[in-house]
Amino acid sequence: MLPLIRRLTTLTAAAAAAIAIAPSPSLANQFSQQDIDPSRVVAVASPVRNGALHNLMILEQVSNQRPCWQETGSAPTQIEPLLLNFDFTGICNRLVDSNGYSLRVNGEDLGLRYRLEITRQNNDLVLRATPVRDRTTVPPIEIARANGSTNGFAKLQLNPGWRMTRRTFNGQALGHIYLTHDEALNVPIAAAGPSLAQGGGSSTPATPAPATPAPGQPLPVIPPQATNPLPPVPGGTPASGTYFRVIVPIANANTLQQVRSVEPEAFRTTVNGQNVVQVGLFRERSRAEEVQRNLAQSSITANILNASPPAPASVPTPPSVPQGQRVVVIDAGHGGRDPGAVGIGGIQEKEINLTIANRVQQRLQEAGFTVLMTRSDDREIDLEPRVAYAQRANADIFVSIHANAISMSRPDVNGLETYYYSSGQRLAQVIHNSILRRTDMRDRGVRQARFYVLRYSSMPAVLVETGFVTGSQDAARFQNMNSRMQIADAIAEGILEYLRR
Ligand SMILES: [Zn+2]
Repeated sequence: MLPLIRRLTTLTAAAAAAIAIAPSPSLANQFSQQDIDPSRVVAVASPVRNGALHNLMILEQVSNQRPCWQETGSAPTQIEPLLLNFDFTGICNRLVDSNGYSLRVNGEDLGLRYRLEITRQNNDLVLRATPVRDRTTVPPIEIARANGSTNGFAKLQLNPGWRMTRRTFNGQALGHIYLTHDEALNVPIAAAGPSLAQGGGSSTPATPAPATPAPGQPLPVIPPQATNPLPPVPGGTPASGTYFRVIVPIANANTLQQVRSVEPEAFRTTVNGQNVVQVGLFRERSRAEEVQRNLAQSSITANILNASPPAPASVPTPPSVPQGQRVVVIDAGHGGRDPGAVGIGGIQEKEINLTIANRVQQRLQEAGFTVLMTRSDDREIDLEPRVAYAQRANADIFVSIHANAISMSRPDVNGLETYYYSSGQRLAQVIHNSILRRTDMRDRGVRQARFYVLRYSSMPAVLVETGFVTGSQDAARFQNMNSRMQIADAIAEGILEYLRR
């Protein structure tokens, strides 16, 4: 569906490819880095399948209301991620995949060329950057160690020369964290030592890696493959040229609500000084027209305007997943400037969606599934990239999480609705039933809808409206963090039941 960027084989061509996937040539190298107080950020080995594997998780203390984690012991230092027990929006950042962190060496973003992974070597957990391509010839780079092994959460101690920095764009701080080394790529590669350079994993006898090359020892020359090929971007989206923005002028107080009944991801914004509801920003005009027709069926008149491409931060890229792994994509609706529905007590849909989505991810990861998030913090993502993300990740299922709303004068309207378009019907039914069994929510039914995220996902896709922020019962439930977790656990149980059947 999306044009593949051809494999390129020279450094210059690689730079050209980086330009092709950025909004415009001038944006290609404009990400910068900014120092972070190292006491406010921690790299954690996070257990999967009861500790059989670990994934990298980075926690950041954003504000001081509550501590985000607790540390105990040494070799390894155990981490208790406290933030999983409260609504940490605005207090903590939790980054769990390549949307949230990547490798940056010598001022260059290497997120497309290396993936960050944790391997067990003898009795240690080791964080390394491994090449996406040519794993047999390109050496991995060791970044950190837990200095001991555990089946739980362990603190990763960064090797000398490494630190964490924040990605910035045009001077603006972003939610993305870099594992950063400031010297040329061959320095950290050399520091990783020969055992790693031969691709040592859990089965390779590990030689303790020297932190720095021995004095007088020449630095190994990086094989040409290490710097030259840029991996093909699966279904890469050249974010250049004209985009098409579908908007509905705001006619009255109900416009937003009406549009959201057709496209739940629609949000209020200003375009050319006019208050409008933006339905979506599309790369192809035909998609925009399709959405426009869909709105017309509900007697809503939408306009299509030419627009510039979305900001790179709003287009998430899925990490590559080993073949044969089952992949679940969880989509927390809204985010960033778009709060979603706002209900009783000012309660915002975007943070309800996020806390539920994060918990669902945690539960499914514990059960051994690969779970990718269109967002795992408070950021704005356009409608189209949410679907493109699941497509590119080759997801087995797509679950979008929302909260419902109707007028503030209808606190009597409460209950659960679960939507599908075509292949998601059984998934919708299983999740819906699971929530009804495990909570006291009212049943408003499993429904079919032509929502964009459902229609354009080729895998079974559902959208769960987890209750009404405008409903007195549901809003009270959302105010209680335990009740939110109960909904999340019920969604996760439903997904597991579906995947295991
Ligand atoms: Zn929503």
